[in-house]
Amino acid sequence: PPTCAGMRAVRSLLAFIFLFSMCTSCLYFIYVAPGIANTYFFMVQAQGIMLRDNVRTIGHMIRLYTNKNTTLNGTDYPDGSNSSEYIAQPTTYLPDNFTYAPNLPCPEKLPSMNGPIDVNMSEILMEDIELKFSKHMDIQFGGHWKPKDCKPRWKVAILIPFRNRHEHLPILFKHLLPLLQRQRLQFGFYVIEQTGTQPFNRAMLFNVGFKEALRDLDWDCVIFHDVDHIPENDRNYYGCGNMPRHFAAKLDKYMYILPYSEFFGGVSGLTVEQFRKINGFPNAFWGWGGEDDDLWNRVHYAGFNVSRPEGDIGKYKSIPHHHRGEVQFLGRYKLLRYSKERQHLDGLNNLNYSPEITLSSLYKNISVNLTPELAPISDY
Ligand code: BGC
Repeated sequence: PPTCAGMRAVRSLLAFIFLFSMCTSCLYFIYVAPGIANTYFFMVQAQGIMLRDNVRTIGHMIRLYTNKNTTLNGTDYPDGSNSSEYIAQPTTYLPDNFTYAPNLPCPEKLPSMNGPIDVNMSEILMEDIELKFSKHMDIQFGGHWKPKDCKPRWKVAILIPFRNRHEHLPILFKHLLPLLQRQRLQFGFYVIEQTGTQPFNRAMLFNVGFKEALRDLDWDCVIFHDVDHIPENDRNYYGCGNMPRHFAAKLDKYMYILPYSEFFGGVSGLTVEQFRKINGFPNAFWGWGGEDDDLWNRVHYAGFNVSRPEGDIGKYKSIPHHHRGEVQFLGRYKLLRYSKERQHLDGLNNLNYSPEITLSSLYKNISVNLTPELAPISDY
């Protein structure tokens, strides 16, 4: 019969194995999703409403990272203000024989939108993509296009903040251009590139892009799009609505669940009017993280809600890179406490910049050297 000492040794070994596997899962989670890990840590510290709201999601996320074989069945939408959205809506996509009329608005649920699309992340040359789309897909020099057989429902400016990600850009174009054409939206692409040595400021780049795009054309909808986020479903309609929209609801890097109910990162869209009303993005977030959370706060303080695509429509794959060389903005939680006070002091209304503009086949490139002095802010 096993001795008492033997039993104890087996129990200690099992406990050790358990703790060891928990630790490796936690470390893996921090490595793959440092932003999320930080936000969860912040929620635990703050012990506030956010933690209570997200507790099921946090548990779910940690279980998914602990057991990577768990099946994801597409109905994993966590609790939150939009949880009812995943309930499958009746399919009202138009039949293949639908006929378009040049004087009528293009429908939103087109027969050309078939659902899941093949995502291929292998590297390709920008020249090959440029050739393919400008020659054969009728894209105008500078990255503009509009449907001819119906009146586009939205004029959409796609803004892409950029620094040192040249290999990502053609992969994004390769997937996004045909998707937007199938959705029969009028569109134009703007790549806003940060030069200089300051930490990356995604939000300020969006503000610059917004102002510059509107000098070109009276866009009515603006999409704020990370360069490394590739949509997996062409029913994710890139038009706007009466509420700001969060398109990237389910990211592969977050195991296809919304990491916390206020998550607004990756790809979002607002009408020009909505974006002006909230005074754009904040300019004060230097380094990655927090600016999307601040946008969420701004949107809600202005009386809006956020809509998201239902079910698997909001799935995205992200090109792996681990924030290559870009620093995380650790001061974000402090700034986020004062979102309301800062909203009308910092944003579109206090921003100065001098851009350098060049046109290429598929987009307008806006280069700017950003520094904090360009967006002075009075005390709050
Ligand atoms: C950051 C967000 C980011 C999220 C996911 C959060 O900690 O504040 O900006 O989108 O993590 O990485």
